[in-house]
Amino acid sequence: MFIAANWKMNLNKKKIQEFITDLENFEFDDGVKACIFPSFIFIDYLYSLISDKSISLGSQNCHFEKNGAFTGDISPYSLKECGCEYVILGHSERRAQYNEDNNFIKKCAYSAIDAGLKPIICVGESIEIRNSGNAINFIKSQLDECLPENCKDIYIAYEPMWSIGTGIIPSINQIEEIHSIIKIQAIKKNIGTTKVLYGGSVKPDNAEKIMSIDNVDGTLIGGASLNVKDFLAIYCSAVKQIKVIS
Ligand code: PEP
Repeated sequence: MFIAANWKMNLNKKKIQEFITDLENFEFDDGVKACIFPSFIFIDYLYSLISDKSISLGSQNCHFEKNGAFTGDISPYSLKECGCEYVILGHSERRAQYNEDNNFIKKCAYSAIDAGLKPIICVGESIEIRNSGNAINFIKSQLDECLPENCKDIYIAYEPMWSIGTGIIPSINQIEEIHSIIKIQAIKKNIGTTKVLYGGSVKPDNAEKIMSIDNVDGTLIGGASLNVKDFLAIYCSAVKQIKVIS
């Protein structure tokens, strides 16, 4: 299981330090990886705080070029150098606010893999697409256009846009259906191992149910990851789930 905390453009240095201090005596489980995605500027700082802990570090985005004249962008190689292991690509906020398209996301994924990062590629439909009955076709075409081919292992986050930050979550059947389609599409792209995370309004009171669904390999958490108690409660739901399975 994988629990990703996407802090977006939140938390200052003091709050980050408090968050990590609050984790001081928490025992992470070998079967559940926790990874935090702070804003770019605090990647180095967070790395210095977690270097002796079982927490991984990731970035919320990267550029596809190794270096060059790309003002304001960050190379995946720089992220690797700063201790990142993972990078989120194609988050719906990036797609909507910065016009990042599937082609751009695919190029970033190849580049991230070259740099030694594991990409977490986000896909998800809008409420209009869901209501028109076209969610499956939409997700399939997103995957077809943005997934890299023949890579060893990859993470894909199913994040329905209508669920992000709204408190509304899809039904168990809807999550199960999309996650199994994602796994099939990844096999068609000859990807070695694919882990599929669910993202969208994951909270302590729904985490256990979500993580018990077939083909849910973890969660990508936004709002609830900013509060250490909520984050750890969700993490503990994942640990409970792996104990049920084994
Ligand atoms: C997200 O933005 O990736 C997300 C899942 O947000 P939230 O958990 O707040 O819905």
